[in-house]
Amino acid sequence: MTNTRHCFIYLFTAIYLAACGAAEAPGTAATTADDPRIDLLVRGDYVVTMDGSGTIIENGAIAVDNGVIVAIGPADELAAEYPATETLAGDGRIVMPGLVNGHSHAAMTLLRGVADDLALMDWLENYIFPAEVAFVDPEFVRIGTELACWEMIRGGTTTFVDMYYYPDTIAEVVDSCGMRALISATVIDQRSPDAENADDSLSKGVGFIERWQGRNSRITPIFGPHANYTLNAEQLAATRAAAMELGAPISIHVSESPFELQYSQDNYGMTSIELYESIGFFEGPTIAAHVVWPTDKEIPILRDRKVGVIHNPTSNMKIASGISPVTEMLAAGVRVGLGTDGAASNNDLDMWEEMRLAAFLQKVDRMDPEALPATTVLSMATSGGATAIGLGDQVGSLEAGKRADLIQVAFEDVHHIPTYDVISHLVYVSDEQDVASVVVDGKVLMKDRKILTIDTDRVKSEATELAARIQSALEQRNQ
Ligand SMILES: [Zn+2]
Repeated sequence: MTNTRHCFIYLFTAIYLAACGAAEAPGTAATTADDPRIDLLVRGDYVVTMDGSGTIIENGAIAVDNGVIVAIGPADELAAEYPATETLAGDGRIVMPGLVNGHSHAAMTLLRGVADDLALMDWLENYIFPAEVAFVDPEFVRIGTELACWEMIRGGTTTFVDMYYYPDTIAEVVDSCGMRALISATVIDQRSPDAENADDSLSKGVGFIERWQGRNSRITPIFGPHANYTLNAEQLAATRAAAMELGAPISIHVSESPFELQYSQDNYGMTSIELYESIGFFEGPTIAAHVVWPTDKEIPILRDRKVGVIHNPTSNMKIASGISPVTEMLAAGVRVGLGTDGAASNNDLDMWEEMRLAAFLQKVDRMDPEALPATTVLSMATSGGATAIGLGDQVGSLEAGKRADLIQVAFEDVHHIPTYDVISHLVYVSDEQDVASVVVDGKVLMKDRKILTIDTDRVKSEATELAARIQSALEQRNQ
């Protein structure tokens, strides 16, 4: 891969970056003296809490009321103590926290597989850019984000951090489908589908954040400055200043490719992370996607500034960005989560695959099977990921007082037999088809593999129809 290729990868990503949101207030009526029932009891043969002690409860349950976990313990005891309006049966099920996808460009599901394995210039100029110029508008973003949310709910993801265009549209989709999300307003110094330049995108981002802050407890509006090669140091500092003023976090691509390293040295005389540190960029909450090439000097900066690093193993391999030193960052105390990146560079949003590949990539890179064990990688996808994106006090583990974001994973199919160790199965065996039920903020979004909050037939038909128009336009253009 060449620097030019990386450059275009980034330009492409920039053009497609944006955000996604979450929505809706917690559960229904709280338990009262007149109605002692709680909203929901979720049972499982195993409850994998991902709490600080790694507690696993056999024949356990989670009691949920008003969107909050009110109790966790042996299923029979909780069933007796907490009569529930609804119960999710636990036979053949593992209950665990919902998965946290720390980096995505959700609407790019509509460009899934539009072109693969091409030289970047060919890919961008003949496929991605034309499709984008012609098709990225609020309707594209709505349909693509709905398609992504359908896929993510189906695969057990309950929270995601998104970066794309038309963030209000993303937030409306998340509001409606019931997921939790941090939605970035993309800031980039070039003409994009929803802005003319850095000033315009920053000013539109401020409007988006003001419209969505405090509007829905599941949706956190944030800024998404693209990178330090699509924004200059002054524009990056201005974005951080706006974020500080609004109390909003930032999501950004950091140290992703050799191109970025070279660009940073050529233009700033220092590495990306040194540049961010020099302008005070890390003084507010930061979610840094990729971080493939941090130096030994930069890793302590990431730790000390509490930067949340999001590792995207599939994208890093497919685009040949490199192998992130995840093991070293974790050992140093850096907060590291997992993400899928967009579906044009993955090509799906399957966090189970990310877990497996994250583990395998570290092992083979170091020729050490003890690098990144299953428990650690499961934490990166749940509690550690939630901490990395700044929601560690709300979600990511199953503990009384936390928001009720959890899933049931079926482990009765043939590929799970026998089961000696549930953590091993969750990381090395399970896939998105095993997810049986999904609960976010106490609301059941999927039950017995049926998604309840998205009209999947409508989304399937809209996405297929839009994809046909994209394909036809690309074919005409390339004739
Ligand atoms: Zn990205």
